[in-house]
Amino acid sequence: MSFQKPRLMTGTRATGELHIGHYFGTIKNWIAMQPDYECFIGSMDWHGMTTAYKESRSVKEWNRGVIANLIAWGIDPEKTTLFIQSRVPEVLELSMIFANLTPMGWLERVPTWKDAIEEAKASDTHNLGRFSYPVLQAADIAIFRGEKVPVGADQVAHLELSREIIRRTNSLYKTRIPEPQPVLTETPVVPGLDGRKMSKSYGNAISLNEESTTLSKKIRGMPTDPARMRREDVGNPANCNVFSYHKLVSSEEDKTWVVKGCTTAGIGCGDCKGRLAENLNKLLEEPRNRQKDLLNNPKLLDSIIAAGCEKASLEARKTLVEVKEKMGI
Ligand code: SF4
Repeated sequence: MSFQKPRLMTGTRATGELHIGHYFGTIKNWIAMQPDYECFIGSMDWHGMTTAYKESRSVKEWNRGVIANLIAWGIDPEKTTLFIQSRVPEVLELSMIFANLTPMGWLERVPTWKDAIEEAKASDTHNLGRFSYPVLQAADIAIFRGEKVPVGADQVAHLELSREIIRRTNSLYKTRIPEPQPVLTETPVVPGLDGRKMSKSYGNAISLNEESTTLSKKIRGMPTDPARMRREDVGNPANCNVFSYHKLVSSEEDKTWVVKGCTTAGIGCGDCKGRLAENLNKLLEEPRNRQKDLLNNPKLLDSIIAAGCEKASLEARKTLVEVKEKMGI
């Protein structure tokens, strides 16, 4: 089966509010790709629940927030199929089919699982769902016959596992599911406010819905170059997380102003942080208002979500019917 534009499948785990790390790491790429691909983008709540299963009552709200955010930042539901994973139940059936033909060894070798074992045990998420997450991921792509998947260079190996599972299915059952190809994207890692990985659980994230007052407060509290103890000390922006944020959101002129001012003690850290807060707020303001408008109009948002899920389910059913027919079940 061929599509007018290559079909691209991707999504984001629904585990709470999206933050600026999501925007710079993924959403920005999706917006840029939208004209060139037939996109399926999901709020992946089953994936979210592999770790957030105790917060299941928040999942509905997270899904709505994710979809509203995506639309507010520029994903057009008229062009892109925006859906919620748990409202496309066919994916779980395909995932079960895939689970049976995926050797345990393939999953045990996944580096992210090996790295996460200790943390998973400590957080009570050392569970089958999290372990078998790559199987569900393969099903997510296959159910929509995704031909392309946007990934950073460090994630190509993960996609290879999906490709292996799909290849095995095609070989065993003579199905014709496309083997997804990676679309390499720039995925800058945005550090959290404290320099660690940005995560809701570390309390170091800037939400895409961050209001200007809390935004300024959070930025004011950011650690700076430790060599710059006093206003008259010179600093080095390369050793300062505030500058990594400037690199993402500020103009060339502002970045030059920071470098010059910091290395000559011409500006104080307060000035530097103030400019960053202003620039970041400028970036967030319009999408934040659009997201609010959508959340305040539940009828409209629900109808967009329902239409997207229906379209996604329709496509998913076609794949599932074909696979089951070929399997003879
Ligand atoms: Fe960091 Fe800016 Fe202070 Fe330099 S002036 S140490 S870049 S906050």
